[in-house]
Amino acid sequence: MNKHGAMNRKKRFAGVGIPLEDPKRAIKPPTKVPYKRIATEEAWITPEIMQGYRELIAKKAGDAGFLSLWGVFIRRGGILIDRLLDMGENRIRDMDATGIDVQLLLLTAPGVQVFDAARARSLAASSNDQLAEAIRKYPKRFAGLAAIAPQSPKTAAKELERGMNKLGLKGAVINSHTKGQYLDDPKFWDIFEAAESLNAPIYIHPQTPSPDMIKPFVKRGLDTAIMGFGVEVALHTLAIITSGALDRFPKLKIVIGHGGEGLPYWLYRIDYMQEFNRQAFMPKLKMLPSDYMKRNVYITTSGLPWAPAITMAQSVLGMDRVLYAMDYPYQYRVEEVAMTDKFPISAANKKKLFQKNAERVFSL
Ligand code: MN
Repeated sequence: MNKHGAMNRKKRFAGVGIPLEDPKRAIKPPTKVPYKRIATEEAWITPEIMQGYRELIAKKAGDAGFLSLWGVFIRRGGILIDRLLDMGENRIRDMDATGIDVQLLLLTAPGVQVFDAARARSLAASSNDQLAEAIRKYPKRFAGLAAIAPQSPKTAAKELERGMNKLGLKGAVINSHTKGQYLDDPKFWDIFEAAESLNAPIYIHPQTPSPDMIKPFVKRGLDTAIMGFGVEVALHTLAIITSGALDRFPKLKIVIGHGGEGLPYWLYRIDYMQEFNRQAFMPKLKMLPSDYMKRNVYITTSGLPWAPAITMAQSVLGMDRVLYAMDYPYQYRVEEVAMTDKFPISAANKKKLFQKNAERVFSL
């Protein structure tokens, strides 16, 4: 390993895509640590939504990104889908094998957002009921975010309220664009209004880029987590910031994964150019984009157990704004946890990263 934590390619990416395939493989759990490991972007799916995806794929219905991503997952089948569906002992065993104490569960992308509005509303509600049931069974190991259907913003706001107040869920997940539409459009702001008043963080999880953006990605195989996801959520987050939504909803909490989807790295230039752009065509904001990032946005380490990127984000946004996540089952690796345990930060800051920040942001 060199001083930036980079290993040779073979060692670093050994087994990517088939993580811990063999349940009998001897797994060495990470060493004991003086903090809880709370993983905050962990995926699951209901049997009904899985069936809905199979139907869409069979009919070739859905946007290019969905057909590309879920076409592959469904063709491959196997342990990835088994793990997404399992909300019981196998999931707990996988958590134990990697030293994860708590999973914050998010309905996997694209959630219900790929369905028509009526079906999306009912699938969101039933998934929230099932999630609450799993959490009742394993209250010390699971917490979760509500799935909502942005196709119907008022119903989504009500479902978020039901999720928070009746089901004990801790916020909402929105899997980025909904049929090509983004949350900077005021027609969605009933959701922001409810989230702000309920103190419910909104986790903007990636999905493949929206139909207007995806063409050059998909034909090169860059539409999913390798690049498309990050571009999609960076655009979405910056769209929300530059729309003025966070002046209207100053207490809204937005959470994004994957080290902040590149935004911390670009912040200086984003601030500089926003000043320039707003003279021409952007709404006047009360603060700089970086100020909203430091007031309203939290980021997680999902899929990016890489000290250079995460310590950079911590230095820009502050130690209180970066939360640990694994991205189970997509990036389920013992090594992922070990790399994050070894970040060159103080013991107190490690406890913030793995435990304290998650407890505070998601009211765990
Ligand atoms: Mn994820």
